Amino acid sequence: MAKEPSFCVQVKSEVARQAEVRSCCLRAELAACARTMGSMRIGNNREALLFTSESPAVARRIFKLARQLGWQADILVRLCTRPRQRRLFVVQMSLRQQGLFLLQELGLADRKGRLKDRLEGRLLDRNCCRRAYLRGCFMGGGFLNQPGHGYNLEFVFDNNEAAEELKEIMTQFGLNPSRRQRKESCLVYLKEADQVGEFLRLIGATQGVLAFENGRILKDMRNQVNRLVNCETANVSKAVEAGLSQVEMIGRLQNRLGLESLPPRLQDLALLRLSHPEASLQELGRLLDPPLGKSGVNHRFRQLRLIAEQLRSEKRAGARLRL
Ligand SMILES: [Zn+2]
Repeated sequence: MAKEPSFCVQVKSEVARQAEVRSCCLRAELAACARTMGSMRIGNNREALLFTSESPAVARRIFKLARQLGWQADILVRLCTRPRQRRLFVVQMSLRQQGLFLLQELGLADRKGRLKDRLEGRLLDRNCCRRAYLRGCFMGGGFLNQPGHGYNLEFVFDNNEAAEELKEIMTQFGLNPSRRQRKESCLVYLKEADQVGEFLRLIGATQGVLAFENGRILKDMRNQVNRLVNCETANVSKAVEAGLSQVEMIGRLQNRLGLESLPPRLQDLALLRLSHPEASLQELGRLLDPPLGKSGVNHRFRQLRLIAEQLRSEKRAGARLRL
């Protein structure tokens, strides 16, 4: 069974369907797609530039961009079984008919036909075209976590220069990407939530930004609630523990002395504690007549404890207790 498309594929599809395309940006966006999802087929008279995506919307967009430039393109669907079953959409542009011209137009090859690691020409001169380049890189090679599962956007390149180029463009838009090597590949990534959100806004992924922000808010809320609950549980158990140790202490007083020998204000509190072992000091104070604040209640408990300690040491000394 084919799986529901991941959040990442959904955002790519959204960008592919909705982001505006200006005619000046066509080449920059296609060039970025070629860099990140492109491959070349050679030999057999079937030389072609291929763009492969899991998103049919992305494939359609590439097809449309090519058509707008007046280039020949076809879309094929392939069923892929490894590593998991999924449909792949392949846009192929024949290099046989269009030859080197196409690679040069996309800045992938220079005038002499040599393939270049950095884009040739003036494809990225304008701001809108640089955004289109970011968009193409995202559709072709971006990886975005599910919302609420960490804020991570990364791009994988097999070519350091192309990675550096993307990093530079992102920096020009005020982003702060990092770069690192992973085996043969070069990774460019954004780790902070604000940065990932800003990138999605830059490439026109409005829904993606919303879903991303929602996930982020939910996660923050969950963390906050967890913190509160943990904090309250800690406080509650502390109060309960204190209450129980007071009950124990009052029990000792009762056995050795009898609560009726205590001064009335201490006796009231002791009885109240026995009937409300889990109440907080404030709650006990409110139940007293007349009511008493927390520190007052605390003070009376200190007196009770003092008596209990006195009782213990005098029992050892065999002396009489004086109140
Ligand atoms: Zn443009």
